[in-house]
Amino acid sequence: MRRAASAQPEGRDAVTAFVALGANLGDAVNTVRAALVALGQVPGVRLVRSSSLYRTAPVNSTGPDYINAVAKVTTVLTAPALLGALQVIENGAGRERPYRNAPRTLDLDLLLYGFACVASPTLTVPHPRMMERAFVLVPLAEIAPQRVSTAQLQAVADQAIDALA
Ligand code: AMP
Repeated sequence: MRRAASAQPEGRDAVTAFVALGANLGDAVNTVRAALVALGQVPGVRLVRSSSLYRTAPVNSTGPDYINAVAKVTTVLTAPALLGALQVIENGAGRERPYRNAPRTLDLDLLLYGFACVASPTLTVPHPRMMERAFVLVPLAEIAPQRVSTAQLQAVADQAIDALA
């Protein structure tokens, strides 16, 4: 059967994926907002929904508080191609990596790619540390409560996180 004209250009079925955004240098609020716009402009990616912005203290990192959010997208890109697009957006925001867990102008992590499990040298999905982090689980639960359990939220309940007004 021929696909309808509105089908995805590459002929792949779209996958729902979740992306975590974080920034703690410069104008972090505007950096995260601009990254959400940039994400929705990536060819083959559609921004479906984004969480509130949250303020959190650095975890295993230094510097000012972070601004965090999670975005839900649908995409016809493969998981590695989506990660590549995230890295282009990070680099466009002036991201530098002077050392591990350094403060960052923008950090984009691929949390979930459908229900796929990926384990390659450059990509692990689900993101291996997402369940340890309130700054991921709280915004993810806001927009996809079915993907986060009460027990998972309780496990990070000691980490301070505030939704921005
Ligand atoms: P970071 O410095 O925190 O942005 O980490 C980026 C590095 O983590 C890159 O080398 C990626 O290839 C790797 N990586 C592995 N899995 C993921 C993932 N799910 N999302 C983002 N980066 C990932």
